[in-house]
Amino acid sequence: MKAYFRKMNVILFITLQISFLILLSIITYGYSYNWGDVFQQYQQEQVKINAFKMMDDLRNEEMSVGPYTEEQQAWLTRRATLYGILIRYGEDRQQIWFDMFSRITDPKAVYLQEFPVVAKGEHRGLLQVAYLKQMNELDPSFVAYQGMMKKRSALLFGVALFLSIVISVMVSRLLSRHLQRLKDTADKIRTGDRETKAVVLGPEEIRQLALTLNELSVELRRQEDWRHNLMEDLTHELRTPLTSMLSQLEAMIDGIYEVDVEWLQQIYDEIIRLTRLVTDMEKLSEAEAARFTIHITKVDLIQLTEQVFRSFQPLAKSKGIRMRFSNPNVPCYAEVDRDKIVQVVSNLVSNAIKYTNDGGTITIGVDWHGDYTILYCRDTGIGIGPQDQPYVFNRLYRADKSRSRFSGGVGLGLSIAKALVEAHDGVIELESELGKGSLFRVTIPNQYKNMKALHNELNA
Ligand code: ADP
Repeated sequence: MKAYFRKMNVILFITLQISFLILLSIITYGYSYNWGDVFQQYQQEQVKINAFKMMDDLRNEEMSVGPYTEEQQAWLTRRATLYGILIRYGEDRQQIWFDMFSRITDPKAVYLQEFPVVAKGEHRGLLQVAYLKQMNELDPSFVAYQGMMKKRSALLFGVALFLSIVISVMVSRLLSRHLQRLKDTADKIRTGDRETKAVVLGPEEIRQLALTLNELSVELRRQEDWRHNLMEDLTHELRTPLTSMLSQLEAMIDGIYEVDVEWLQQIYDEIIRLTRLVTDMEKLSEAEAARFTIHITKVDLIQLTEQVFRSFQPLAKSKGIRMRFSNPNVPCYAEVDRDKIVQVVSNLVSNAIKYTNDGGTITIGVDWHGDYTILYCRDTGIGIGPQDQPYVFNRLYRADKSRSRFSGGVGLGLSIAKALVEAHDGVIELESELGKGSLFRVTIPNQYKNMKALHNELNA
């Protein structure tokens, strides 16, 4: 029972009904309140007119002074009744010649008015007029009119009530139906149906909810795919080296192979690589969630890039590689997450050093274009063949398997960089020629558009 009253359509119905009833009561009260005033004024006017008629009669018939015969009294009674009033007439309030006030049973239910009767410039007497507060006691046509008005009001009230119930039921059903529909969709999504789409229909808030639900479903699916692929990649990446290390160690334990330091070293290196793989995997996972944890500030990109450039100089020098920094000599400010962009540039420079031979050159630079800034890293290294270029940003992809294995790469550096750049609504691109070198170009908008603004823009 409690649950029933918590239902959206029931709450809506009751709310609407209460509002309608309040409105109707206000209208009805306002109408009758006003009606009472009008009626009273009308009544007073009528009584005055009739009292004057009565006074006129008293003067005309030479009846202005009592005492009266029975016949005259009957005539006065007929007249007063005709005018719808009760009269008492006398010289003053004490000396009474004619009196109908004995018929008054409840003195509170009557109004009294007094009029001096004057004939030929002389005071003749004092006419007291009593009339009942309830006009229906006096005027049958008024009673009929009032009855009709009452009936009509009741009818109108009934019709208004009926219409209000119909409208309340319709409105509450309509709104709760939208919610029910969304609930059904959400239930389907919850039970794993990712193909269902919420119908974008109804009031604005409901539409927004439907859109959000659809976005949620897409995001859920993306996450699931990501997790699924990640597991596949990881198991694939771990299984082969683990199986090979296991069999090598077994062979050594069983005495099939001699315990060889070189083999042990190989196994050791492999374990180091796998440890890095796990660390980088964690970094990638963080990078892919970066759009939710991004910390935006206004950053001088020249200073940032130069800082990374300097930090890598010793490593490049030790490998006999020349490093250059190309400064555009204009201020380059952008709204970015400083640490994340440092990570992007570091990954690119670290790769460039990894895949460039002794005597090569690496150029790091910044280009400012008003709305966006380009950060680039060019090397004269081994380059990437066209068959590999579309895949280098995929996680765990290594173009030159033997070489990157040797250099300790696990194939995650570029996917981390890509995820971080995309968290800034930027793009990362590659131009490369096998044997000649590569150019990685990162384009970032100078103004950060957060997800909410982007969302609003898409929905507008
Ligand atoms: P890794 O850890 O193997 O370097 P990355 O994701 O950073 O992984 O790069 C993916 C692959 O792209 C690398 O294995 C390598 O083959 C290729 N690659 C990346 N950067 C360069 C570069 N500057 N020159 C040549 N090849 C590169």
